[in-house]
Amino acid sequence: MTYLKSLALAGSMALATAATAEERYITIGTGGQTGVYFVVGQSICRLVNRDTPKTGLKCTAPSTGGSIANINAIKAGDMDMGVAQSDWQYHAYNGTAKFEGDKFDKERAVFSVHSEPFNVIARNDAGIATFDDLKGKRVNVGNPGSGQLATMEVVLAAKGWTMADFALASELKPAEQAAALGDNKVDAIIYTVGNPNGSIQEAVSTVDAHLVPVTGPEIDKLVSENPYYAKSIIPGGMYPGTPDDVETFGVKATFVTSADVPDDVVYEVVKAVFDNFDRFKKLHPAFENLKEEEMIKDGLSAPLHPGAIKYYKERGWM
Ligand code: GLU
Repeated sequence: MTYLKSLALAGSMALATAATAEERYITIGTGGQTGVYFVVGQSICRLVNRDTPKTGLKCTAPSTGGSIANINAIKAGDMDMGVAQSDWQYHAYNGTAKFEGDKFDKERAVFSVHSEPFNVIARNDAGIATFDDLKGKRVNVGNPGSGQLATMEVVLAAKGWTMADFALASELKPAEQAAALGDNKVDAIIYTVGNPNGSIQEAVSTVDAHLVPVTGPEIDKLVSENPYYAKSIIPGGMYPGTPDDVETFGVKATFVTSADVPDDVVYEVVKAVFDNFDRFKKLHPAFENLKEEEMIKDGLSAPLHPGAIKYYKERGWM
C-alpha cells in the first residue's frame, strides 16, 4: 500500500493505537528476485522496520519488473520509492527517450547505490566474441519494465539495429534467463545488474559461457555524450569462464521517490540507511565499496528530495 493510500487507514487506526506512533506503510519498488535491486529494497526495509516502534513506518519491498516499472509506479502513486537506473532516472525527469511526452517532474532523487555494468553473457558454443556478433543470434533482451530492455533499445538505436536483427529477441525475466541460456533456448542474455550477481553466476555454472565486451565508437559516443553512463570493467575471474577483464559501459543503481512523499518519511528512510551504513554495506557484495559522499551525488539528475537533504545537512555532507 502506498503512503497516501495508507493515510486514511492509519488515520482510522490512530484512535485505537493512540499510545504508539501512527502506523504508516511505505512500498519500495525493486526488481527480479535474483537481482540486486531486490536486496537493496529488502535491506532498506529491514533497517526501516527496526525503528517501526519509534517512527510508525512499516516498509515492504516487493519484487517488480525493474527500473521502468518502478518509476511508473511511483509516478502513479502506487509505490512510494524505488530503485532505478541512473539513465532512466534522468529520462523520466527530463521527459526524454522512452519518457518523451510523459515527463515525471515530481521525480526526486534520494541517493545512488552500486554500479551496474551492461552485462552480456554468451554461450561459448554460439560464436559470440563481441557485441556485434549478437546479430542473427537468439538473445534475451530483458523483460518489459526492466532497465536492461530499455537500455538495450538505446544501444540498438545507437548502432542502427532493431530487434529484427536478432533471430530471436526473447523477453524472459532475470529469474528465467539463466536456465534459458543453459537449455540452449537462447545464445546470449543481457542483464544490467550489480556484480557479482547470483543469476549470472548461475548462468555461467550451468553451461560454458563468458561475458562479452560491449565497446566501439557507438558506445564511446553514448558514454561521452551522456552523464548517466560510464565505462565499466568486469574484473577477470569474477565469474568462472571469464579469466580476463571485460570492457563494457554501465549505469548507477539509484534510489528515487516523488515530491508527493512527505519529507519526514524520506528523512526516516535515509536515516535508517546511513545511521546503519556499515550494516547496510555487508548485505550484498555489490555494496562493499559504497561511499556516502559519492552516493549523495553520483548518478543523480532529478533534484534531491528535501527529506534527504535535511539528513545530509545534519551529517555535514552538504
Ligand atoms: N537494472 C535492472 C533494472 O533496472 C535491475 C537489476 C537488479 O534487479 O538488480 O531493471
